[in-house]
Amino acid sequence: MFTCRNQSCGAQWELSDVVIKNEGQGLLFRCPMCGARNYVTRHVAADGATTYEQITDIPPRGQH
Ligand SMILES: [Zn+2]
Repeated sequence: MFTCRNQSCGAQWELSDVVIKNEGQGLLFRCPMCGARNYVTRHVAADGATTYEQITDIPPRGQH
């Protein structure tokens, strides 16, 4: 579960709700509701399962 870091939004999303991509500054997803960038880090488990963890120490940015 991810939470949009735009405080006026704060929507919660499942991984299946968002598209994770790399726009050049690391992996992130754009909040489907407000477009804010939310950074994530990828973990690959020993069994090959990929999970994503939201990074909370980078301030959110609005859309351009
Ligand atoms: Zn949002």
